[in-house]
This record gives sequence, C-alpha cells and structure tokens, in this order.
Amino acid sequence: MLFWSFAVVFPLPLVLVYDSLATEPDLLKFYIFLGLIAYTWWLLSIVLSMRSSWLHRFVGLPSIYGLHGMLGVLSIVAAYMHRNYSYSPSRLARNLGDWAFYGALVVLCFAVFFMSGWLVDRSRRLLKTKGILEIVFRHQVSVWIHRLNLVIVAMIWLHAHLLVRVNQYFAFMVLFDLYTVTALGIYAWKKWIAPDTYLTGTVISNDARGGATRRVSVDLENKAAALQPGDFFFLRFEGSSSVSREWHPFSVTDDNRETLTFTIRQHGNFTRRLDNVEVGARVRLEGPFGRFESIIQSRDREAPLVFVGMGAGVAPLLSLAAAHHTERKIHLLWAVRTPEDAYYRDVLEDYQKTAGDRLQVTVSVGRFRREDLSRTLSAEAVAKGAFFIVGPNPAVLANQRLLRRMGVSARRIHQERLTM
Ligand SMILES: Cc1cc2nc3c(=O)[nH]c(=O)nc-3n(C[C@H](O)[C@H](O)[C@H](O)COP(=O)(O)OP(=O)(O)OC[C@H]3O[C@@H](n4cnc5c(N)ncnc54)[C@H](O)[C@@H]3O)c2cc1C
Repeated sequence: MLFWSFAVVFPLPLVLVYDSLATEPDLLKFYIFLGLIAYTWWLLSIVLSMRSSWLHRFVGLPSIYGLHGMLGVLSIVAAYMHRNYSYSPSRLARNLGDWAFYGALVVLCFAVFFMSGWLVDRSRRLLKTKGILEIVFRHQVSVWIHRLNLVIVAMIWLHAHLLVRVNQYFAFMVLFDLYTVTALGIYAWKKWIAPDTYLTGTVISNDARGGATRRVSVDLENKAAALQPGDFFFLRFEGSSSVSREWHPFSVTDDNRETLTFTIRQHGNFTRRLDNVEVGARVRLEGPFGRFESIIQSRDREAPLVFVGMGAGVAPLLSLAAAHHTERKIHLLWAVRTPEDAYYRDVLEDYQKTAGDRLQVTVSVGRFRREDLSRTLSAEAVAKGAFFIVGPNPAVLANQRLLRRMGVSARRIHQERLTM
C-alpha cells in the first residue's frame, strides 16, 4: 500500500510548483496537471524497471512490475485527456506531444500483449497467438520495442520545453529537468556505470532430467551470501557460443549457496539450446530475487506449509523444502506431464527420510483437480496452511481459483509465475 501511495505522491511537487506559479484558467491548469502526472509516472516506470536490489526484498519483483505496468496504463489515460482537452500555439510542440502519445500507446499495447500476462494468462487462444507471434517478436525484440519509451520521454521533454505556457517559469522548469535527469541518471547509472555487483560462476554439470528439462549446476566464485530459499536469479551464459547472451530468470533448486543448481524446462528459443552449454562455461548471475522465505518467516510458525509446483516450477519449492523440512510441517504437491518428468523423486525421498512424518509428498501426472486437492490436503492445511504455488501462469491462476473455492483465504496464497 505504501509502495503504491508513493506513485500518487511522486508527481505532487511538480504539480504544486506549477499550480503556485501559473495563472492559466483552472480547467486548463487541470489538463496540464494531467500531462505532468503522465510524464512523471513514465519516469517512475523507468526507474522501477531497473530491478532495484533493495526494493524487491520489501515488495517483490512481481509487485514492482505490477506497478510499472499500471503506471504505464494510467499515464496513457492521463496523457489522452491532456492531449484532447488542452491546446498549444506551437505546432512542433503539438506534433511532438502527438507522436509521443501514439508511440506510447503502441508500446503499451505491445507490452500488455507480449510482456505482461494480463491478457494471455486468461485466454488460451491469445496465449496460442502470442506463441505463434513470438517466432518473430521474441522476448528480446519485445524488450527493445519497450525501450522506445526512452525516445518517447525525450519527445515529451522537448514538448514541454517548447511551450511558453510552462517554459516561462524558471523554478518549474528546473524541477521538471531535475525529475528527468534523476530518472534517466538512475537508468544510465544502473545500466552502464554502477560497479559490477553480479555474481559469476562456472558450469560444473549440465544433465538431462525427464523429457525436456536440464539440471544445471554453477560453482560460484563468491558465495551467494544474500541468497534465501526459494530465490531466483537472472542468468547469462557467457562462455558458450551455442546460446545467446540473454538474461533469463531461473530459480535455485536447493539451499546450497556455493554451488547453485537450476532446473530448466526446455521449451523455447533459448532454453532448447541449453543442451549445448558445456561444463566450464562462464555464467553471470543478477540477483538473488524473491520473497517466499521472508513471507514464511513473517507468518504463523506453527501453520503447515503447502507447496504446489507445476513442472520445473517445483524448483524454488524444493529449495524451500530443503531449508524447512526438518522443522516445519510441509505438504509438497508436484504436477508433472509424464511419469519420467517426476525426476526429483530421489531428492524428495531423501528429504522425507530426514523429515520423518513432517514432509508429505504428492506427485500427480497431469494437473491437480479439485477432487485431488480435497482428497490429499488435510483439514488443518486448508484451514491454516500457507500456500505457495509456482508454475506457468494459467496453471497458477487455475490452482489459485481451486484453493479459493475450497476455502483457502487469498492472504494465505502466495505465487510465482514463470513468465514476467
Ligand atoms: C521469477 C521466475 C522464475 C523462473 N524460474 C524458472 C525455473 O526455475 N525453471 C524454468 O524452467 N523456468 C523458470 N522460469 C521461466 C523461464 O525464465 C522461461 O521459461 C524462459 O526464460 C523462457 O525462455 P525461452 O526463450 O526458452 O522460451 P520462449 O518460448 O522464447 O519464451 C517463453 C516465455 O518466457 C518468457 N520469457 C522469455 N524470455 C524471457 C526473459 N529473458 N526474461 C523473462 N521472461 C522471458 C516470455 O513470456 C515468453 O513468452 C522462471 C520465470 C520467472 C519469471
């Protein structure tokens, strides 16, 4: 809540300074305020996209991206009203404003479809269409299209500087430029100047598991001191010519901080090439990110933990199980496509041996249906348990709905979706 309130407060200094200086009619001033609000929210969105390492521990990366997306939508609404109901004598300023508005609208529609799950997670047909279109518009292409927002910000900055209605107020313009320089400065700092804090390591094993999954272990040069169970990293393979140098997020599968193990389902352009990553390949890791462990620590310590993993989504849950199986009551439910995909049965059996009757494991070939959950979950788990669901977005949403219908309250359900 505090985090979202910050977005409301963020434009206020600029709006209040303009209000105190300008002598425009109130209605016109209001539409100018909307333009200022849209601009500052775009700047804030850019800052949020930098994956700040301290902010994500408080609110989590999904909330940061959630606010980033919402600000994108709300800015367009504010910019639409600003554009339609205010006027300007400068033709260039008007044109720049128009181009920025239409550009932002196109980039937003593209991001909503390709980069957020807002539409595709709720419609199989749209998900299928996205899959087909991604042959051309690969994730990295979408990322580059998204970066056009920087050009849009530059156009709006120039638009404001050309308008006599605002550029005559020196104090206001100084503040306006301060907002811009600070936001773009943070972006440039994080991208190109900040000291390199990424972890680095070397691949020490890369084995096939089940039908289409790799288990990749990376020996770190320096221990991942900040790593918590259930965390994930963005990985880039550097010493291999067979995979591209893109950053992709993957969760750590156990609680070892010196050798990180990742369980990677191969289904797309990047992951399918991971067979070719050789032992000895260099890896860079950005992170760790994740909030599961802090949620577990902040909730009722007597309540059972219920982990629901779909496919490779079991990875962060295994890491949580590794950390907690000796002291917490855990029920791990794992849905896999085929019997061979239950490739961590041996690991789970080892945990069960040390956990005694504290750890219960249910593996299902195919998704969990309501009858399965009603049959296997204890009354105590349904009434008091803390649920953690990880898997592909539509499956996570479906499981969440099932649990809600069974009476599990929303505040006890936590989830991580395998797209961002
Ligand atoms: C927090 C988090 C943790 C994850 N943990 C795991 C894990 O432990 N094991 C696992 O197998 N998968 C995990 N994933 C999913 C994994 O990151 C994607 O499946 C993988 O990046 C897809 O790459 P691809 O090019 O092979 O697939 P594609 O078929 O090209 O892409 C499939 C989808 O993955 C998403 N995607 C593609 N590239 C990226 C990228 N660079 N960054 C973010 N999303 C992208 C896009 O939404 C795309 O539609 C995780 C995802 C997230 C967000």
